[in-house]
Amino acid sequence: MKTKLITIIGAGIGGLTAALALQRRGFKVQVFERSKEIREIGAGITVSPNARRALRDLEIDQKLESCSSSAQEMYICDYATGQVKYRNFDSSIVEKYGFHVLQVHRADLHDLLLRAVKANDENALHAGHEFVNFEQDEHGVSAAFANGALARGDVLIGADGYASAVRSCLFPSEAPKFTGQVSFRALIPRDLVPTSILERGLAYYPSPKRTLMHYPMRGGKIFNLLGNAQSANWEEEGWSISATAEEFAQAYADHAPEVLALIRAVPAGGLFKWGLRDREPLQTWTVGRVTVLGDAAHPMTPFLGQGACIAMEDGLVLGRAFAAAETVEDALHRYEAARKTRGTNVQIWSREQGQALQNGHKGRTAIDRGLYDYDPVSAPV
Ligand SMILES: Cc1cc2nc3c(=O)[nH]c(=O)nc-3n(C[C@H](O)[C@H](O)[C@H](O)COP(=O)(O)OP(=O)(O)OC[C@H]3O[C@@H](n4cnc5c(N)ncnc54)[C@H](O)[C@@H]3O)c2cc1C
Repeated sequence: MKTKLITIIGAGIGGLTAALALQRRGFKVQVFERSKEIREIGAGITVSPNARRALRDLEIDQKLESCSSSAQEMYICDYATGQVKYRNFDSSIVEKYGFHVLQVHRADLHDLLLRAVKANDENALHAGHEFVNFEQDEHGVSAAFANGALARGDVLIGADGYASAVRSCLFPSEAPKFTGQVSFRALIPRDLVPTSILERGLAYYPSPKRTLMHYPMRGGKIFNLLGNAQSANWEEEGWSISATAEEFAQAYADHAPEVLALIRAVPAGGLFKWGLRDREPLQTWTVGRVTVLGDAAHPMTPFLGQGACIAMEDGLVLGRAFAAAETVEDALHRYEAARKTRGTNVQIWSREQGQALQNGHKGRTAIDRGLYDYDPVSAPV
């Protein structure tokens, strides 16, 4: 295909992976981000072998591994006593899939992607541009921004998260809805973490209507703590709403003493909560020269730990689809054909896994579902 200018809305993990994958295949990208400063929130995510294959292709996997943690074991614990019920060994994951599962600070992953995109083209990123609308014709797409700017490109990719404005322009009748889950999220410096929790490292505590997980990041210097609890309603908007450790502890009052001690160790001002939202699966992702990617295409609850991983897969496959195609339409068709079933399935399975865990069942994990087998570098496009 003749070199194209590709507009990407959203400089999150999905948008930047797509930008980098396209740049490395010879395409010019312009990425527009509504935040004034392009950076990630302070929180942890797990990055599994399926996504690490994409990062290896982009030549940032090794750098990410060197600043992350990879717990050798994961403990599933009884929430009330803290006793280990069973353990999963990471060595079997490496043997089977060729990679550890990494526990990653989101900002570290985001920073590696951002630097790589900038190194390829220092003018590719445009902060302070909130997308509001687009118009397309047979030659290209014009995007309009809240600051009055306009940008023209050959194609437009909505990588603007679960509340995607691009998706709402494509499909106006459909909107995000509250999932009935509230998340508490905090980072805790190692020297504040109770010894028994330090020894456990990566552990998961399913309980009635709730789950709780903690794991070390950055070689153990910080612990990530994440609780998801069912809640009847949620009125506030946004990702980062301050919460108190007492509020978090109350929601988990029946948990083991060391878990409550960990919750109470969260530094003042360092705990955030938000209501999780998702949207129904779409019949199609693409209209003409416009498509969606990552959470904009398939927002999912965090119970399989796959939202960012699937967004990275999307980004890499989008780059490969453009490299393989003759026209923009052909590229978007290849992309959607390669990705929609997987994105939709993982979206639905994540919901199912949340229900299973919070009803006292093991459910089917990402491994049970075969999600780590996928290779975005060689999957057909
Ligand atoms: C509690 C929790 C735990 C999770 N844990 C994991 C995990 O362990 N592993 C995992 O793989 N995933 C995990 N996820 C999922 C993961 O965080 C998301 O799936 C991932 O961030 C999606 O990336 P994205 O780039 O598609 O969207 P986002 O990260 O939401 O990025 C979208 C970007 O678009 C920008 N934007 C939005 N609107 C506009 C606009 N109108 N104009 C311009 N820019 C705009 C935003 O500012 C943002 O920078 C978790 C999610 C939650 C909530």
